Amino acid sequence: MRFLLSLILFAALAACNQPTPKTTQENMKGKYAIAIHGGAGNLVKMNLSQEQQDAYIHALDSALLTGEAILKSGGSAVDAVEATVRILEDCPLFNAGKGAVFTHDGTHELDAAIMDGSNGECGAVAAVQHIKNPISLARKVMEKSEFILLHGAGAEAFAQEHGIESADSAYFFTPHRWEQLQDAIEDDKTELDHSEKKKASNDNAPREEKFGTVGCVALDQNGNLAAATSTGGLTNKRYGRIGDSPLIGSGTYANNASCAVSCTGKGEDFIRLNVAHEISAMMRHKNYDLQQACDSVIHGALKSVKGRGGCIALDSQGHIAMPFTTSGMFRGSIDTAGQKTIMLYEAP
Ligand code: ASP
Repeated sequence: MRFLLSLILFAALAACNQPTPKTTQENMKGKYAIAIHGGAGNLVKMNLSQEQQDAYIHALDSALLTGEAILKSGGSAVDAVEATVRILEDCPLFNAGKGAVFTHDGTHELDAAIMDGSNGECGAVAAVQHIKNPISLARKVMEKSEFILLHGAGAEAFAQEHGIESADSAYFFTPHRWEQLQDAIEDDKTELDHSEKKKASNDNAPREEKFGTVGCVALDQNGNLAAATSTGGLTNKRYGRIGDSPLIGSGTYANNASCAVSCTGKGEDFIRLNVAHEISAMMRHKNYDLQQACDSVIHGALKSVKGRGGCIALDSQGHIAMPFTTSGMFRGSIDTAGQKTIMLYEAP
């Protein structure tokens, strides 16, 4: 009997401490928030000229403003993340779309995923070679196919059937990515590692280890979350390697009941730990808040396997977390109060 009473008392106290979902939703009515990343890496400030830093900041700013305009006018989180990622895909500075890195064979194999946190719908594509904006193809897969992840030639055939814009290989050629491939082949590395000696190059591109994937998470005025990620993967990748970005739960995840997450970094560790879903699971099962969940996964689990990278995450209350284990992560956000932040390195 005493046990039963304690149980009832405990349940009543727990209920008092939890705001009802309805109250929470009412508080958030008309509010929106957005966060983006343009990749993480061991970026040394000194190695980027002021001009280069300004170019990255400007590109992140235009992407953020595009997403914000959609959210401000009452558009959906899914529309906002797709449109924002498209801007970053069209910018040669980032490792996605136009600026994607080369594979070992001198081709491009692009990966992307999108997820709608309101209903668990998601779509993804991997290793597509001629799609101008892979994120829009991922969305088409989400909305118009019975499948979630399409790859290679099959994904491209699906794209053609659905009128998705294609681009030939020449569109994806950028001289600095080509030079990065030659460096990586010379060093026999399958990632964006560039040793000190390479910094002597006259090339203007940053020579540090850098994962330039792009991603966006958004909360719309209806309280819905969405996440999107797009990447060229790792320089010099081979054998059809696919990273974490297009894998739902690893590099991309959204659930209105917890958060939206987009990751960047060495994909193998994010796949191993199922990073994006793990952050959501920490919130749902351990009752962690967003920051605690991100800290435990990025600064805990990821660090313990020496994983390099980070993520952007947003919850249904508009809280934003952008943790990373590298020395920098290109990122930006606009919170529910309209406060905009854009940062390239550690927090100031
Ligand atoms: N996560 C991506 C991959 O492993 C790389 C990146 O973030 O730049 O394919």
